[in-house]
Amino acid sequence: MNMVKRMNLKSANVARSSTIRDINRQIILNHIREKSPISRSDIARLTALQRSTVSLIVEELKVNGLIEEIEGESSGGRPPQMLSLRTAHAAAVGVDLGKKKTIVATSDLAGRILEQEAFPTDEDFEKTIARIISLVNYFINKNGGSIEGIGVSVPALVEPKSGRILNVPHFDWHEPAIAERLKIATGLPVKIDNDANAAALAELWFGRPEINAVRDFILVLIHKGIGTGIVFDGQIYRGKGGTAGEFGHMTIGTGAPIACAAGKYNCWEAFASERSAIARYARLLKKQKGADKISFAELVNLALEGDEKARAALKQTAYYIGVGIANLFQGLSPEVAIVTGTIVRAWSLVIEDVMAGAEAALCQDYPTVKIIPSTLGNYPTLMGAFSLILTDKFASASII
Ligand SMILES: [Zn+2]
Repeated sequence: MNMVKRMNLKSANVARSSTIRDINRQIILNHIREKSPISRSDIARLTALQRSTVSLIVEELKVNGLIEEIEGESSGGRPPQMLSLRTAHAAAVGVDLGKKKTIVATSDLAGRILEQEAFPTDEDFEKTIARIISLVNYFINKNGGSIEGIGVSVPALVEPKSGRILNVPHFDWHEPAIAERLKIATGLPVKIDNDANAAALAELWFGRPEINAVRDFILVLIHKGIGTGIVFDGQIYRGKGGTAGEFGHMTIGTGAPIACAAGKYNCWEAFASERSAIARYARLLKKQKGADKISFAELVNLALEGDEKARAALKQTAYYIGVGIANLFQGLSPEVAIVTGTIVRAWSLVIEDVMAGAEAALCQDYPTVKIIPSTLGNYPTLMGAFSLILTDKFASASII
């Protein structure tokens, strides 16, 4: 499966093995996914595959329910037959386990959210997993067999092959068997990954064209902590045992406004997470009672409404987001860093501070730091959960 993923699925030149047919099928499916609606002749032209091969595979994809035919716009004569992904049915269930809120939702093949339910994540793991299982089963039953798998995004270190959860900061959960429990309860394939990795995968597959054409980028997920998803050559870089990307704990300075999940005041997440912004806001209000009880979404709302102290708290936090990202550029030199999380809603307020922090931290004026907000809207980690299932659909011959 990984072999196939490492190939360039946009070029027919790679398809020379005995699995040539499977690979051609994926090449065509990927063109339909990215360029839909698209005609058979355009697919043939773009892939350099023979027209007859394209037609044969297109028929197969139609029979398998992956694509559908729609009428294109007529330029005088008969309207051309165009192809697009079949989007009428839910294809995957995504579980976005957050520290405060858990979302369970369905999506179609193109990663569009169809239906969703949310509930407050309970500190008691048994209560949370019971709620997840009941919602997942509800969606599976409702969709009558069209769901092919369950993707789960968790704010934790995950060993991707086994799905074993190694560490869940901020929760007193010891290796919670989320994937295993879901598999037993549903009988469906379950894939689980760290939230930042999942969101990076979503940017790669469902992000705007300027992102999914980029081969090397770092996704920076700003939430209660900071997670990073590293993409090299179009693949998530996981490191040994799946623990790469813990840049939230690189040292940025001393005397951060809060402690990181491990209790240190030097780490990037202690300077630049949502929690640090809330702590700065409380400090600006001279620790007024309850000031630190505000949620980060509420803080962003206040800033957008023009509250000066909320704006100042976000801007100071944004400066340190930039400082950390400059360090990533100095070490890894990606093409771009993508920032995701609720902070993106206030991007126009903070972009100058993010860049100021990055410029101040860059030591040799090299490499050029390019930072953009997520291209995925409000649910990057939920999209990530879908991606864990849907990318297999497009990248693996064995599933089709
Ligand atoms: Zn730390």
